[in-house]
Amino acid sequence: MKESKQSIDVYIIYRDLQAYGKEYEEYYLKAQRLGVKFINYVPDKPPKVKRDSKGGLKVTVYFPLIDKSISINCDLVVLSTPLIQHESGKEISRILKVPLGPDEFFLEAHPKLRPVDFTVDGIYVCGTAQGPKSISESIAQAYAAASRASIPMTAKRIRAEAITAVVNEDLCKGCGKCEEVCEFNAIKVEPKVFEVAPFIKSKVLVANVNDILCKGCGVCSVACPTGAIKMRHFTNEQILAEVSASIGGP
Ligand code: SF4
Ligand code: SF4
Repeated sequence: MKESKQSIDVYIIYRDLQAYGKEYEEYYLKAQRLGVKFINYVPDKPPKVKRDSKGGLKVTVYFPLIDKSISINCDLVVLSTPLIQHESGKEISRILKVPLGPDEFFLEAHPKLRPVDFTVDGIYVCGTAQGPKSISESIAQAYAAASRASIPMTAKRIRAEAITAVVNEDLCKGCGKCEEVCEFNAIKVEPKVFEVAPFIKSKVLVANVNDILCKGCGVCSVACPTGAIKMRHFTNEQILAEVSASIGGP
């Protein structure tokens, strides 16, 4: 508006303003240079919009910099609404076992090292599912996600973790605690038939680890009340032996 007609007054009344990235910082500075006025309001004195006696719009806002309320007669008031997570986001997060951040948008595995991956393999994130972003950024991220997804499809194989959970079926009571705590959907408690005596079979619940999905985080091992789960290459005996050796024990 300022570029088309310099005499138009434009005010931006904001609670908090952050211009991320060089492009947006330049855009903000350009708006200031062109004469757009930025007014920061305080939350306990929000701006009020009223119709004046002539039917026009009047915005009254407390301006903390000058410690005064100011009134602006407006031809047009534009409300800016925030982008928020869709109500189905929580449901998708639960079904796919992919995390949401504190702002309820999907949370990538690592903002710098794995920006379009989730901690769960084979699921990728891009665009506004991850948070508010511009169209060009969403497109660039979509290319990145598609490229990441094409790697296992092209290679036709994946490299599994060497350190995974292993269940001692003799100790497992089928309580399901491990299944509850596994963030990667890698463990299921399922019925299994055992031969308890010659010609006598019994069906009991035991935990079963999917080695491809298991990330070796060890959470299930901690949660198991009977000590039925151990981590390959990180058994209690191995760790205790390391501790013992490090303090000069036997
Ligand atoms: S928590 Fe332990 S006892 Fe319970 S189902 Fe899992 S492995 Fe079995
Ligand atoms: S080690 Fe972690 S990922 Fe693997 S089954 Fe246990 S909780 Fe799940």
